[in-house]
Order: sequence, then structure tokens, then C-alpha cells
Amino acid sequence: MSLFEILNAPQVGWDDKVPVGLFIGNEYVASEGNEKIDTFNPATGEKLTSFYAAGVNDVDKAVKAARKCYKTVWSKTSAEDRGKLLYRLGELIEKNRHKLAALETLDSGKPYHSNAQGDLDQIIQLTRYFAGGADKYTKGQTVPLKHEKYALTFKVPYGVVGQVIPWNYPLAMASWKIQGCLAAGNTIVIKPAENTSLSLLYMAQLFTEAGFPSGVLNVVPGLGSVAGAALANHPDVDKIAFTGSTAVGQKIMQIAAQSNLKDVTLECGGKSPAVVFDDADLDNSVEWIAGGILYNSGQNCTANSRIYVQETIYDEFLKKFKSHIQSEWRFGTRLDPFDKECTLGPVISEVQYKKIRAYVDHGVNEEKLNIITLGDFPANSKGYFIPPIFFTDVPQISKLNKEEIFGPVAVISKFKDYDEAIELANDTAYGLASAVFTENIRLANRFVRDINAGTVWVNSSNDEEISVPFGGFKSSGIGRELGESGVTAYCQTKAAHFNISDY
Ligand code: NAD
Repeated sequence: MSLFEILNAPQVGWDDKVPVGLFIGNEYVASEGNEKIDTFNPATGEKLTSFYAAGVNDVDKAVKAARKCYKTVWSKTSAEDRGKLLYRLGELIEKNRHKLAALETLDSGKPYHSNAQGDLDQIIQLTRYFAGGADKYTKGQTVPLKHEKYALTFKVPYGVVGQVIPWNYPLAMASWKIQGCLAAGNTIVIKPAENTSLSLLYMAQLFTEAGFPSGVLNVVPGLGSVAGAALANHPDVDKIAFTGSTAVGQKIMQIAAQSNLKDVTLECGGKSPAVVFDDADLDNSVEWIAGGILYNSGQNCTANSRIYVQETIYDEFLKKFKSHIQSEWRFGTRLDPFDKECTLGPVISEVQYKKIRAYVDHGVNEEKLNIITLGDFPANSKGYFIPPIFFTDVPQISKLNKEEIFGPVAVISKFKDYDEAIELANDTAYGLASAVFTENIRLANRFVRDINAGTVWVNSSNDEEISVPFGGFKSSGIGRELGESGVTAYCQTKAAHFNISDY
């Protein structure tokens, strides 16, 4: 079935084709070398279409368009007007939400009614939030100095910003970056992930419709090693913001340093702990932790993939956890992400599918760990579906405790007391997120103080709020997004010293 036919499928109500060109200067164009990348539906394994892949020269053209727009128009556009344009964009995203969500489901496999629509809810909310932030989060300070001297600080945009994003939340990750960056007054060249470029290409035209000037947003899909690296390396890009794996984040930082020492924000991987103390509300913790590892098929940087349970309630927790997942997640009963009952979609690609299965095989065959599989690998599907899988009583040194698996797979282990819990939870190279479950307010507060992670959820997990800063400690990244920092990450501080004396 062609993409056009799928897009016309009655359940999603498409009435037009999807753009597949690079988006430069408000136009969809072919890449200079006419290279294309195929994109697939992860629920069926079928090819959807192919889109143009940017090369080094295409990235350069996009940077030039962004620079021209910055110099001639955007740097002169008031914060209030930037806010108005973003507000209009929010309305257009809302008007087109079903098309955007359908495209997201087709290209990434995420369940349409829950995940894809949930992403759109967040994107609409954050677009309005950053529209309001344009003239509020860009204010400077007055600094009193010695008599007859004072200083002012200004938050000024960088100029042209490069952005590179992953495939797990294609439109949401793009929106976390684009909307705040435009509110701050920058122009953008963004590279979506190879697997999931269609939805952002479609959304790009809404910027034109909202009235954003030509060149303010440019989208250059392509290979990471080509288009992504070219963006990080470009001497006329003033900042690069990246979300993806730690390994690629390290490369980006290196290239950024060696090119023109451009500023970097890195949102990288995680191996986030969820810790359950024996006074916790067990039903509540079971529900949040199941969602924290299964939502989006576990393809979340903040997935609570290490679950630590106090030994006194370990067996009871396991029993409730299994029965909750069996009754609420019902893996394998519905394998069509457009089906309302589909809760757990496929993982993104054959590559990821094989990578996750290799981790599972390693746990079973090499480390001989206890495995709980809550559903069967579907025999009759060509999609990349993986059931919920848990390894229990896993030693801390296990590879499965150390490495990010990025699928519906977690390890569950016991701890004795608070000191052991915090030691195990902090025993990781990452520091993105964490969750603690307890009714004891002192214990919760101690945990918040002692955990080395950018986010701590107390009695919940993976419930992002767009008004709260988000980002990682340690190898999980540098810098913050969302909240006020979603705008200030894209501003640099200029200080002006005023001497009002006569000499
Ligand atoms: P990835 O690092 O493989 O790719 C991310 C992006 O980088 C893609 O667009 C890719 O094309 C590009 N890229 C690859 N090589 C590059 C290079 N040499 N130079 C420049 N760009 C390059 O990550 P992924 O597999 O797409 O996503 C999964 C990872 O993303 C996980 O590690 C996950 O934890 C992380 N993630 C982090 C956050 C966060 O906010 N911290 C959010 C979502 C995902």
C-alpha cells in the first residue's frame, strides 16, 4: 500500500499528500544530489515513502537562509510579535492535530489515540507557553555598582541555531527545541531523525501559514553522520542543541568545540531508577512504574528501567505489578496502532528490535537471569512488537543494569534500607531522572536531596510538565529545556557598564 493510500485511510481522514523535500526558506526542495532515504511503518515493516536527504551543501544553503532571515528580519522582530506568531502557530497545530498525529503513528508506530494524541496535547500547550514566554523570559537585570556606575544585562539570541533530534518523540522533541528557540529570537536549522522525518516536514508548512518569515525555520532531514555532523561543524552556526544518545552527544560536543566553539545543549540517554519503599501505596507505585517503562514501548530517555523494591514488599510488589500489566496493558491483543485498544505499539525499527532482543538473549543465555515475559512475541506480524519483559533479582553489575536498552524491558531488584537504596539508585553513569515511592515525607525529602538526577518524581514517574526545567546530570547531558530554560537556553547574556560620572 502506498503512503498516499494509507493517508487516505478512512480512520485517519487524510486528504492530501505529505511533503518529502527539504524545507529551506519556506519552500520544499530536492537535495542537491537527489539522494533519498526510505521510511517504514514499524507496525507492518512496509515502506511508506522516501524523503530527500540533505548533504553538506544543502545544510550550508539552509544555514545561509537562516542567517539572512536573522540579519534582515528576525533580529528586528519584537518579542511581542514573536509571541503572536507562536500563538498563531499553536492554533494551526491544533487545527491540524489529527493529521500530525496520524503521520506520527504511521512513521513511528506510536498508538494513535493515546501516545500520538498525547504528544499533540503537549505540543499545543507548550507552543502557547513559549508564545507567552517570548517577552517574559528574555528580560535582563539592572546591577547596582559603585556610585555613578551601574550595569544592565540583556538576554540576546545567539543568531543561527542548529538542532538535532531523535525518533522517539519526533514532533514533541522538535517542538521542545524550536518553539523556545524562536521565542528567544533565533533562526533555526533542524535535522530530524532518519526514521521519523515526515511529521516535522509536514508541520514546517504551518510556520509559513502562521506568518513566520522565510528562513526562520529550516528542516534538513538526512543522515546523522552527514547532515547532523555538517550542522555541528558549520562555522556560521552559533549554537547546537542535540537530543539523542550519549555517544552521539559526545561527538557533537567535540565537533562543536573544534569548529567555532559553538555553545551546546545536550539531552542524552538515561538509566533511571524507580525506588519503592515498604510504606508506599503499592497500587499507585505499580501503576506509575508500569507506565514509566511501557509507555511509548519503553523508548523514553527517562524510562524507569531500573526498579528497586524494599525486600519486605518485594514479592507482593511483583505479584501486583504482573497482574496490573496483564490486565491494563494487554500486550498483543491489538497490534494496529490506530486501534483504540492498542496500548503498546511496536518499537521504531528492525535495528532497535534486534538490539533489544540481543539484550534479552544476553540476560537469559549469558547471565542466566530470571525472566518474566508478559505476552508473546506476535507470530503473525511483520511489525517490531516486543512484549513487556522484566528480569528479577538482577545483580548490580549486570549489563542490563548498566546500559540503556530503550525498549519495554526493565530490571527489578531488592534493597534492604534507605542507604542501600540510594547507593544502588546512584550507581550509574547517567543522571536524567528518578522516582521514589513512599508515604514518609522525610524519606522523600532525603531522597530528593541525595539522588544525582536532573528530575525526581515523588509518588509518580515520567509525568513531564512543560513549565518545569528538564535535563540531565552526569552523562545524561548538559543544559536544560522546558520551563523558562526552554527560552533562556537560547539566549546569551550581554552586560553593558554605564559610567555616569564626569571622567
Ligand atoms: P542517536 O544519538 O542515534 O540519534 C539522534 C540524532 O542524532 C539523530 O537525528 C541522528 O541522525 C543524529 N546523529 C547520529 N549521528 C550523528 C553524528 N555523528 N553527528 C550529528 N548527528 C548525528 O539517538 P536515537 O537512537 O535517535 O535516540 C535514542 C537516544 O536518545 C536514547 O539514548 C535516548 O535516551 C535519547 N533521548 C534523550 C532525551 C533527553 O531529553 N535526554 C529525549 C529523547 C531521547
